[in-house]
Amino acid sequence: MQQFDLIIVGGGLAGASLAVALRDTRLRIALVEHQAPRRPEGWDSRIYAVSPANVAFLDAIGAWKHLDAARMSPIRGMQVQGDAGGEIAFSAYETGVPELAWIIESSLMACEFWESAKRQSNLTLLCPARPQALEMRDEAAVLTLADGQVLSAQLLVAADGRDSWVREAAGLLAHNTPYGEKGLVANFITERPHRSVAYQWFRDDGVLAYLPLPGDKISVVWSAPDALADEMCGLSEQALADRVADAGGHVLGGFSPLTPAAAFPLRLMRVPQTVAPRLALLGDAAHGIHPLSGHGINLGFQDAAELARLLSQAPPWQDIGYERFLQRYQRARREETQLMQTATDGLRRLFRESVPGLRPLRNVGMRLTNQLPYFKNTLVRYALGAF
Ligand SMILES: Cc1cc2nc3c(=O)[nH]c(=O)nc-3n(C[C@H](O)[C@H](O)[C@H](O)COP(=O)(O)OP(=O)(O)OC[C@H]3O[C@@H](n4cnc5c(N)ncnc54)[C@H](O)[C@@H]3O)c2cc1C
Repeated sequence: MQQFDLIIVGGGLAGASLAVALRDTRLRIALVEHQAPRRPEGWDSRIYAVSPANVAFLDAIGAWKHLDAARMSPIRGMQVQGDAGGEIAFSAYETGVPELAWIIESSLMACEFWESAKRQSNLTLLCPARPQALEMRDEAAVLTLADGQVLSAQLLVAADGRDSWVREAAGLLAHNTPYGEKGLVANFITERPHRSVAYQWFRDDGVLAYLPLPGDKISVVWSAPDALADEMCGLSEQALADRVADAGGHVLGGFSPLTPAAAFPLRLMRVPQTVAPRLALLGDAAHGIHPLSGHGINLGFQDAAELARLLSQAPPWQDIGYERFLQRYQRARREETQLMQTATDGLRRLFRESVPGLRPLRNVGMRLTNQLPYFKNTLVRYALGAF
């Protein structure tokens, strides 16, 4: 049996960033991942809007300075439009920050973490590897891998995504509410410059977002009802580009395709208990959120930052798998996660409900918010993690 202090299952963005954040600690870490990340040719259609709070986290763990600046774009302004004339605009300048977020390809960050993890002296990288059996003993979590290796540690971290094997094997509940929608993602070249502005439309057929990429390129996320998302995935690349440009009122002129479209099913997932004796859940294993607020990976990075802070500050005699100790992590992350899930879910419902009278009301609400600079800036600073 190989003994560690910490086993992380899942080397996606959440799990790998936790591993890297712990590189200067005395902890002996095993990272179990079944597939190493790789860069696609051209541009990745999986793109994240990384908040300033998480840029600070990436900087603190030494990853930020290694990311290729030519592949990233700041968001300096944002325009959000309702479905009946409602409008709200945010700007970095008015909020008093250099940028509202950075748009970064998923695989760019994933490969940087992976390279860093490979060089990490307190880390054993087990890849390709999958867990097969889990036994929670009083003194340790014991994980048997499919190739027969047996690992044990005081603490097991489940960072294996929304269908987490570890969460299931440990018997922790997850309440799933499918949205009946898919997130359609694709990148395009635009006729007109985006000037680092992101656009979002709350439409009858879902929420459409244009996110700026370097040059005259954008990434599009359209959260659309399943049937529409499937129909759009079946279109030719140019027909989809025309459809997406049309839906945004040609605000950036015509589009030509840059990457093929991909679609992923959306669901709200609430996990009442994210720690148990010898276990902590991280990232998508701990929560699922609608992509309209762009907070999926931002919550995951903040989970990693918080757990890394707790583990690295623990005295040497601390049993890091002790449930009371892990509850500090659960408490620290619960409020932000629930608030983001509730706010995002509420916003999505507000624009999907067809109750008479609601349409004008929600659009007036947007216009009013737009005219209340203090309230608006408070909202945006909270979303940026600036408090
Ligand atoms: C198909 C898809 C596309 C998405 N596209 C976007 C997008 O464009 N924009 C956006 O903002 N959000 C997107 N999301 C949501 C976003 O990807 C997540 O919020 C984020 O990736 C969560 O990171 P994570 O590290 O917690 O989980 P994941 O990224 O799911 O990482 C989990 C890791 O665990 C590994 N793993 C899983 N099971 C096992 C196992 N049994 N054994 C070993 N390893 C295992 C996986 O290989 C993976 O590396 C998408 C989600 C999906 C599913």
